[in-house]
Amino acid sequence: MPSDAVPALVRAEIDGRALVRNVRRLRQHDPDGQPVGVVKADAYGHGATFIARRLMDEGIEWLAVSTVAEAVALREDGITARLLVLGAPLTDHLSWAARYDLDLTVSSPAVADAVAASGLPLRVHAKVDTGMHRLGIAPEAAPSVVRGLQRTPGVSVEALWTHFATADGPDVSFVYEQLRRFTAVLDALGADAPPVVHTDNGPASIRHLTREALRGRRRLIRFGGVLYGMSSDPSLDDATSALEPVMRLVTRVVHVQTVVPGESVSYGRTWSPETPRCVATLAGGYGDGLPRAMQRGATVGIGGRRVPVVGRVCMDMLMVDLGVAEGPAGDVRVGDDAVLWGRGGPPVETTALACGTMPYELTCGLTSRVVRVPVG
Ligand SMILES: *Cc1c(COP(=O)(O)O)cnc(C)c1O
Repeated sequence: MPSDAVPALVRAEIDGRALVRNVRRLRQHDPDGQPVGVVKADAYGHGATFIARRLMDEGIEWLAVSTVAEAVALREDGITARLLVLGAPLTDHLSWAARYDLDLTVSSPAVADAVAASGLPLRVHAKVDTGMHRLGIAPEAAPSVVRGLQRTPGVSVEALWTHFATADGPDVSFVYEQLRRFTAVLDALGADAPPVVHTDNGPASIRHLTREALRGRRRLIRFGGVLYGMSSDPSLDDATSALEPVMRLVTRVVHVQTVVPGESVSYGRTWSPETPRCVATLAGGYGDGLPRAMQRGATVGIGGRRVPVVGRVCMDMLMVDLGVAEGPAGDVRVGDDAVLWGRGGPPVETTALACGTMPYELTCGLTSRVVRVPVG
């Protein structure tokens, strides 16, 4: 970890007020569900403890992470909210869940057996595999596994849940098939159904995909990317256009030069100008988590203009074409800010598209060299 006493080169400004406004909009949009703030992977790269505190201040009672280690780290930072671990626990994780007062996922009959054999007091959420085929108990087996856990002293089955494969579109029809398999398990459990259900991620809630099928049940909603104002699929744009990006990724110009025809920029000499061009070198590269694929058409904001990345992205630096050497490019000075994504630069969705990925991968991929700076 770099010293944070030295002025940062690449900084991720994290706007806590934008986060809070997003939460309020999402709650208004789907008022029947109780929000769970998904803060796995360091809150999609935004800083889990900072985000968790802001969510708790906003009255969010539930947070979710992927691993027991992530949950324990939050507890040690003083986060007292309910903490649901979404991933599959291994047997040697169970005692940690008990000690740190976590809610665990039972992701298979074998995990249910391990929970029962542990003799530990545990709160669990039984996960049904309705078609994602990543984790979960088969629908046919789920009722007996749930009833077995309910009979186990010390174990409390808090919820039944599942996860959709296609809620972020563009074709959501399989969601309805998954819902049908899920409600069949609820029907089979009858009065033994756990008091709470959760099926929706952010996109499912935004699209109101489960409102009819789960009406009358206590629903949690697992909000992830939408909290941070990120859209996982372009077809969600209409519904999420009111959400605000929480992260703005900013770097500094560290060098400015003129590159003339016949010369080239960066490793492999993949880019050469046709006329003399003003080229700025920016701090930041794949060592900071910026994808090398940014060289395939991504842009950066400098002084209110969008300028293209040119040449290969290096480990620690990348170059941008500011324009003809005598043009407005000359206004850019060493030390100026350059916006990699967020206000004053391209939306992260645009950069992700240029890189052939989705925005979560970009924000999650930022390394510890990027300084997270709370603003607001
Ligand atoms: C990450 C995750 C979510 C949040 O998904 P978004 O698409 O970011 O809203 C919800 N549920 C599970 C099981 C997850 O792993």
